[in-house]
Amino acid sequence: MQGVGLVGEVLKWAIGRPSVLGLQPSLGHVFWMSDPALATPDLQLLFAPASLKEGRTGVLDDFPGMTCGVWQHRPESTGHVRARSPDAFEKPEIQPNYLAEAIDRRVLLAGMRLVLALFKAPAFQPYFDGMHLPEDGAESEADLLAYARAYGTSGYHFNGSCRMGPASDAGAVVDPDLRVHGLEGLRIADASIMPSMPSANTQASTFMIGEKAADLIRGRPPLAPVEL
Ligand SMILES: Cc1cc2nc3c(=O)[nH]c(=O)nc-3n(C[C@H](O)[C@H](O)[C@H](O)COP(=O)(O)OP(=O)(O)OC[C@H]3O[C@@H](n4cnc5c(N)ncnc54)[C@H](O)[C@@H]3O)c2cc1C
Repeated sequence: MQGVGLVGEVLKWAIGRPSVLGLQPSLGHVFWMSDPALATPDLQLLFAPASLKEGRTGVLDDFPGMTCGVWQHRPESTGHVRARSPDAFEKPEIQPNYLAEAIDRRVLLAGMRLVLALFKAPAFQPYFDGMHLPEDGAESEADLLAYARAYGTSGYHFNGSCRMGPASDAGAVVDPDLRVHGLEGLRIADASIMPSMPSANTQASTFMIGEKAADLIRGRPPLAPVEL
């Protein structure tokens, strides 16, 4: 994906041949349980066939490799977004308090250990010659949490700042028809209305909210429930 090899990949892509440019960055997704007693997944893993600088999306390392990211669905740690001044254009203070709750540390550790087990599984051995981040051998609970704190980033699935709920709930902003409580003629139709965090990426649910809002505004009847 670099230098002369990249030129070759661009040419292959330009003439419609299979090329690395035709791959999406995350080729494998895993939904998994941090505890076998759970009924539904609380972990999501994402696999990329490339080594990403400092484990973050955007910039590739100078050497070949593979990356597996892991995140916890529905973390319980709570932070805050606070205005710093009455000036609306001044950036707010954002403190996510990642990993403040013990359950979040436990679930993330289980996910990181699952990634290590997958990379060290026999099927991967032809492609695996060691870890870069975290370093080989840095696998104690303290090592892995220190690694998560130093290199962890947001999963970018922000939602719930105008959540749906009954008017009796002081924290709820919109009703089930997406109307803002206490205001006439104003609806909200985006990821902010989610009452709780979905256990997956949020784009599809946001599209669904937009489609539903269009139906509500046009007065269309609800679709029939899907039989699962
Ligand atoms: C880097 C990144 C990667 C992601 N990857 C994925 C993924 O792979 N899969 C997935 O499912 N989800 C992904 N998400 C999450 C997904 O993009 C969001 O959940 C979704 O876009 C939320 O939609 P929204 O309409 O609520 O907000 P947004 O998509 O953020 O739309 C808000 C819009 O409002 C506009 N706006 C803001 N302020 C004003 C203003 N004052 N006046 C007028 N317009 C304004 C903005 O320009 C923007 O167009 C990703 C998010 C990020 C940030």
